[in-house]
Amino acid sequence: MSLNHTHDASRKSWVESANTPGCDFPLQNLPFGVFHRRGEAPRVGVAIGDKVLDVAACLRAGWLQGEAAEACAQPELNALMALGPAHWSALRARLFDLLAEGAPESSQAQAFLVPMPEAVMELPCRIGDYTDFYASIDHATNVGRMFRPENPLLPNYKHLPVGYHGRASSIVASGADIVRPHGQIKPSPEAPPEFAPTRQLDYELELGFFVGPGNELGQRIPIEAAEQHLFGVCLLNDWSARDIQAWEYQPLGPFLAKNFATTISPWVVTMEALAPFRAAAARPSDDPALLPHLLSQQDRECGGLAVELEASLTTERMRQAETQPQRLSRGNFRDMYWTPAQMLAHHASNGCNLRPGDLLGSGTVSGPEPESRGCLLEIAERGRKPITLASGEQRAFLLDGDEVLFRGRCERDGFAGIGFGGCAGRVLPAR
Ligand code: MN
Repeated sequence: MSLNHTHDASRKSWVESANTPGCDFPLQNLPFGVFHRRGEAPRVGVAIGDKVLDVAACLRAGWLQGEAAEACAQPELNALMALGPAHWSALRARLFDLLAEGAPESSQAQAFLVPMPEAVMELPCRIGDYTDFYASIDHATNVGRMFRPENPLLPNYKHLPVGYHGRASSIVASGADIVRPHGQIKPSPEAPPEFAPTRQLDYELELGFFVGPGNELGQRIPIEAAEQHLFGVCLLNDWSARDIQAWEYQPLGPFLAKNFATTISPWVVTMEALAPFRAAAARPSDDPALLPHLLSQQDRECGGLAVELEASLTTERMRQAETQPQRLSRGNFRDMYWTPAQMLAHHASNGCNLRPGDLLGSGTVSGPEPESRGCLLEIAERGRKPITLASGEQRAFLLDGDEVLFRGRCERDGFAGIGFGGCAGRVLPAR
């Protein structure tokens, strides 16, 4: 993915708030989402500063032409996602020019801006299928060590991106409440299983990747072409019930411990917006040789993504005291062992058909440092070492009323920093 005028950091927007330093949505970002105002129909929008540009209204005004623009007449992004990079790029260039300082449309376009607090965000697309990977070797090692101290990493880990099929129906947009799930729990090796609300509710700090154009059933996607099948990226919280997981996962993997809810941030940051923030793949070159379907020189050189990720917590008591969220995790996606292209190519390597709008979760983003552990299971060492918050409260896992907030940000000298907006959810008591 090459750089072009839409990455030029010197360009400003006529939407003043987009030019504020540290803003998640400057002119160089332009993430897509689906929103509505109360009482109105859902439609495609683009985030700019603290506003949402109504793309459908721009289309009706005759300011946007071409297939990609016309796909934005739908109340979901699937049609746009299906088109591919050349179309996405043309639309991005046009939206950039429309929102750049000096655009002749600027005075008329003011009417097509919706203040973010008035925009109710929906899921960005129909998500047909959802798959979650396990691409952080630090996460896999930390978690593996708790269950198999002498043998934390299983023999397949360095040969293929491990994943499982998740459930699309329970994916929700940021802001939706999360009801504490019930499940089968076995409190100790001696005790019989019981059916009860989870006592070990956790978050997992991840990125989600939206599939663009799909592949025919039976057809593989070569790793060299994999990124042309990736539309964009969101933040993803793979809420997990660790006690349910520990009892149910053998031998077929995660099931009800994971599928009760997955929260995503509603703005999809495009792969083109992320072009300045690519990084070398973190997988060491002296690790076992990759099989051909996962091996690409270009992917090795720049298949990674440098996205700084944070998870923070607000408890009920903190909310009442109006204290700021407390950061629990801070990691960087560049530490991931497997790249997004490797995950996608591997997924299709048996001929499994991917479809526009499918979602691939990266797996918990953890790094080598203690503060970069991306879930409470790792931070509090499976409940053995609860953390003490600034409020004086202790946490081994999430309690009712806790709100988890993720943020993501890309920074690089010479480029405009971009962000992902928030990905938040509050835990409600079991029903
Ligand atoms: Mn996960």
